[in-house]
Amino acid sequence: MSITGELLLGARSIRGTSGSFEASDPTTGNSMAPSFGGASIDQVDAACTLAAEAFDEFREVSLDHRAAFLEAIAENILAIGDDLILRCMAESGLPRPRLEGERGRTVGQLRMFAAVVRDGGFLDVRIDPAQPERSPLPRVDLRLRNIPIGPVAVFGASNFPLAFSVAGGDTASAFAAGCPVVAKAHPAHPGTSELIGRAIQAAVRSAGLPEGVFSLIGTSGIAEAQALVANPHIAAVGFTGSQMGGTALMKVAAERPRPIPVYAEMSSINPVILLPEALAARGSEIATSFVASLTLGAGQFCTNPGLVLAVEGQGLDQFVEAAASELRGAPAATMLTSGIHEAYGAGAALLADHPAVDTVARGLVGGINQGQAGLFVAKAADFLVHDALQAEIFGASALVVRCADEAELRRVLEHLEGQLTAAIHLDKDDTDFARRLLPILERRVGRILVNGFGTGVEVGHAMVHGGPFPATSDGRTTSVGSLAIRRFLRPVSYQDLPETLLPDALKWNNPLGVERLVDGKRETL
Ligand code: NAP
Repeated sequence: MSITGELLLGARSIRGTSGSFEASDPTTGNSMAPSFGGASIDQVDAACTLAAEAFDEFREVSLDHRAAFLEAIAENILAIGDDLILRCMAESGLPRPRLEGERGRTVGQLRMFAAVVRDGGFLDVRIDPAQPERSPLPRVDLRLRNIPIGPVAVFGASNFPLAFSVAGGDTASAFAAGCPVVAKAHPAHPGTSELIGRAIQAAVRSAGLPEGVFSLIGTSGIAEAQALVANPHIAAVGFTGSQMGGTALMKVAAERPRPIPVYAEMSSINPVILLPEALAARGSEIATSFVASLTLGAGQFCTNPGLVLAVEGQGLDQFVEAAASELRGAPAATMLTSGIHEAYGAGAALLADHPAVDTVARGLVGGINQGQAGLFVAKAADFLVHDALQAEIFGASALVVRCADEAELRRVLEHLEGQLTAAIHLDKDDTDFARRLLPILERRVGRILVNGFGTGVEVGHAMVHGGPFPATSDGRTTSVGSLAIRRFLRPVSYQDLPETLLPDALKWNNPLGVERLVDGKRETL
């Protein structure tokens, strides 16, 4: 499949007319053909208008039809074969095994959402039958189902060029809900985005769906990207990236005449809490797995363990020593873009130069766009007064915070901004300590895990990949797992509609065979 550098506006491929940009190979810094045309504001509007025109038809196709569409996208992505992996390796600097795994995750996610659609539980059908005889007033017939929210703008993430980009979790969950998608390709991997976009375009065609169900645009300036969020046809936004980018889009969305939700996943330093008995029993073992998690994928994971908390003592000293010796041998690794590499370098330098911070170890120095791992230490008393120390440094760098006692460790946790994950390392005798931390962690994070690290996010039904601001813009949601569909649904009640006017989901004989709450009781199928 060739890459043309065109926008995909519904069924058409056309050249973007507002500036141009090229992909760059982060391992060399060289740009790659072809040149991509940036979408003009009119072209952004054309994509959104097509999406709005497709909405009513797409949202009422049968559940099986919608599920088959998701499965067709998965098949088409696999059918691209090695061209996809090769282009993605060149654009991202990520190694083949990682990208093959990520392709598997992308396809698995689409298939999981196909199963979610077929199940129909997401419709949350509720029926409160009329009670004409009720006294003193009769009760109306009230039925509820979820409907999709409308066309969704998806901003692909730089760090997951497949699983969180054009056909990633945001797009899969929006399609599953019944929402058309206008995807904005991340400029770090426009060729990968086009290949995936064409796979979706072909699936729209073969499924006989209206063309506006999917469009793909690239932009060469922020005005066009913001115009996508401001477009009156767009009903919600999915975003993964920086806090600055996410909050800029939240502002655009909030200032529209009709504000819309932005589901932005932004920044998190994912505290790792080392409890005393675990430290004493296996501090060096934990240090080895910690450094492996920290340096995985050049540390470019939203769940990267950027903060370690523990109570002062011999156990912590030994952990820091072991982690430092592991980290000194860690090779520098190519980062996704020169901008991300620069931001990482600046963040690590800020820590290294901070008067309250000691540099414990740096990894091996690398070449072009390669990030050098870093391990830093500060006292909790300083961490509590220098807010800059809890800023996300996107890359393989972590700060160990030494706490005087449990009370100070709890104060540090209370002081943290919202996080995606928190990991507790514990042994049996740490259980009471851990239990006392749980209420604080529940208020601060989306996922609490024990004796592991947050990297490696399972895609499933019980996963929460979200958290209070600034981890995400809306801590009530998740961007990974089947629950992600809820971001793009809205409940509608139907009062006293005759059976002939009711949507199939709400008909009394349950033609869709979906689970329902009837008069407050869960109906068994
Ligand atoms: P980014 O700069 O926030 O960009 C993400 C997407 O949003 C891009 O498509 C970008 O478009 C667009 N965008 C950004 N600011 C915008 C604005 N003001 N108006 C309109 N559109 C805007 O994120 P990135 O390029 O992926 O990486 C930069 C930094 O983000 C990293 O160094 C890291 O700190 C953070 N990051 C965090 C995570 C995480 O999961 N926590 C993941 C990835 C990145 P253009 O580039 O075309 O303008």
